[in-house]
Amino acid sequence: MRSPRHSSSSILIGSLVFAATSSCTQRLQDACTALSTALPSLVTFPNTTLYALENTYWSARQSTLAPSCFVTPTCAADVSTAIKILTSLSTPFSVKGGGHAAFPGGSNAAAGGVTIDLLHLTSLTASRDRRTVSVGAGNRWINVSAFLDPLGLAVVGGRVADVGVGGVILGGGISYFSGLYGWACDNVRSYQLVLSSGAIVNASARENPDLFWALRGGAGTNFGVVTRFDLAAFEQRDIWHNSLLFPGALNATLIPLLQNLTVNGLPADPQTHTYFVMAYLPALGGHVILSDQFRAAPPPANTTPAVFQAFNDEALLPTIVKTTTVANISTVSRAIDQAYGSRQTWSNTAVSATSAALLVEFVPLYEAWVSKLVAAANGTDVSPLMIYQPIPLNVLRAMQANGGNALGLTPSDGPLMIVQLSVSWASSALDEVVESSCKDLIGSVNALAAKRKLGNGFVYVNYADSSQDVFASYGKENLARLRLVAKKWDPKGLYQKLWRGYFKV
Ligand SMILES: Cc1cc2nc3c(=O)[nH]c(=O)nc-3n(C[C@H](O)[C@H](O)[C@H](O)COP(=O)(O)OP(=O)(O)OC[C@H]3O[C@@H](n4cnc5c(N)ncnc54)[C@H](O)[C@@H]3O)c2cc1C
Repeated sequence: MRSPRHSSSSILIGSLVFAATSSCTQRLQDACTALSTALPSLVTFPNTTLYALENTYWSARQSTLAPSCFVTPTCAADVSTAIKILTSLSTPFSVKGGGHAAFPGGSNAAAGGVTIDLLHLTSLTASRDRRTVSVGAGNRWINVSAFLDPLGLAVVGGRVADVGVGGVILGGGISYFSGLYGWACDNVRSYQLVLSSGAIVNASARENPDLFWALRGGAGTNFGVVTRFDLAAFEQRDIWHNSLLFPGALNATLIPLLQNLTVNGLPADPQTHTYFVMAYLPALGGHVILSDQFRAAPPPANTTPAVFQAFNDEALLPTIVKTTTVANISTVSRAIDQAYGSRQTWSNTAVSATSAALLVEFVPLYEAWVSKLVAAANGTDVSPLMIYQPIPLNVLRAMQANGGNALGLTPSDGPLMIVQLSVSWASSALDEVVESSCKDLIGSVNALAAKRKLGNGFVYVNYADSSQDVFASYGKENLARLRLVAKKWDPKGLYQKLWRGYFKV
């Protein structure tokens, strides 16, 4: 159905042939043709090397989609041109930042649609006063840190090298520095974005403040294609990273330590950050626990920050592996990068972090889920993880700065624990059991938390499964406000209708 050819004449011939068979195909052919006429050499078609490169995503499930073409703008004006063409021809589309959404279609259009790949928007500039860094929306976090590390600066951004700037910031953005400054979205000074009309506008506390609020957690897909983020920068040198791998048998000891860390330790030392991963690794004897710990300012050499001390008592809690590094953000973020090539999913919810017993009670549910998936995989690769990511009170307080974000989280909700499920697997035959078992486990976690009167139900969009009702979890008032903002800036609802795949308000 799609023309794999590059020259506009052959595409035109193709579209004439197709015109006789399908008006839908004609419209689509027109869209890719019109894009390649308006943006010469920036459109790629199937069966080319460039198309194959652009159709590479972290989750193999996204790469199974085959958009009719990719368009790769080089500046905001190009994005505007692309949006005008796509909306005028009613062509469904998606936008790819760093391509790390897990579910199919999260940032790739299906056959019959067009994917706007922002990969060329890689500008990076620091202001003379060192307080603001302007970041093109096609950058990965490694580009940002490789630029900032030599300057002795950092921003509140994603923790992992290859992940895209766009998706992380627009959904929220949990960072090494969140204890000090909140999530990434709380530290955006200004967004430059392309509306569904094609207009290029800015959103900041002074300029279009309603849009500015909505973009801080409301995800771009409802409001506009962001082409540049102006981020608050701060002085930063090497950070401290401690990575501890424990046998799973220690979870009943370690989880209460994590809970205490969330309630007391992290707020007492806001320079610190942590997450906690339960994994099943038969090669290492079965269930294991990874505790990753960070501090923005490294402690004195060969010492451990006081709040992490309890995890680091080898006599009481022997590790399988322990690695401590003091290094720049680029080095640390590369060390935790995750490989491409597997099918991926995730889902999440949040519960009160005030009860260690509740967090321990989830473990047998998790272990039963792992057994089910390992049995279903029948020897093929499957890696189910349950991850605890704390949202301590200091982070919730920092989120209220700059007028607050759209996530609907306040200090009175906290402290919270994000309970995240993440599965990588090899065979598409497992898709159904993976998806349904994740849904069941999140349901059981929420039900148990509700029974103990410790539920919360916030769903972090950047770790959500496509079936989760993300924006309802922001609260009725915030959802209504997000809808009003979307309606005001996209009165015809073009983004709601044509921008496919991700979460809609
Ligand atoms: C290995 C790994 C590490 C991660 N680490 C973190 C972490 O440290 N902190 C954290 O909070 N999350 C983290 N995440 C989750 C991450 O926030 C999401 O996967 C996020 O969607 C990735 O952004 P992306 O630009 O790479 O993804 P994409 O798949 O390209 O985009 C995700 C969504 O954002 C939209 N989008 C992207 N760019 C723009 C733009 N410029 N304008 C409008 N819409 C846009 C896309 O259309 C899509 O809907 C991680 C994920 C992975 C896989």
